[in-house]
Amino acid sequence: MWIEKTPEELEEDAKRRQRKADKYGFFSFFGFLGFMVLKDKFIGPGGTAGADLEKPISWEEIYSNLFFYVILASFFGFAVYKTIKYKRSGAMICPACGKPASTGKSLICSCGEELKELDKMKWIDS
Ligand SMILES: [Zn+2]
Repeated sequence: MWIEKTPEELEEDAKRRQRKADKYGFFSFFGFLGFMVLKDKFIGPGGTAGADLEKPISWEEIYSNLFFYVILASFFGFAVYKTIKYKRSGAMICPACGKPASTGKSLICSCGEELKELDKMKWIDS
């Protein structure tokens, strides 16, 4: 049967999501930063939004653009972080009959029971 998670379990979920968001945000930042630097160094800047690729640039130029790379990578890492931290499945479930339902529809199951957010519920063998 489906039962509601305890506050401790919900907190544990939030912590797990936070750790995941930290980790993915961190790797996205460095991954994107590394990707941009290597691309500009060995392929060249441009190549996005229809712009022609330019010639590869030197490490000095990369160094002088570093601030720009860091800003872009920060946005990217932050977007990943936010997405993971605040993502919800949005799925609803009926605790009485176990029928899933998507949000946006009625909050009452066809059996008359109030639907609950799946993220806040857990299954136990009864
Ligand atoms: Zn139901």
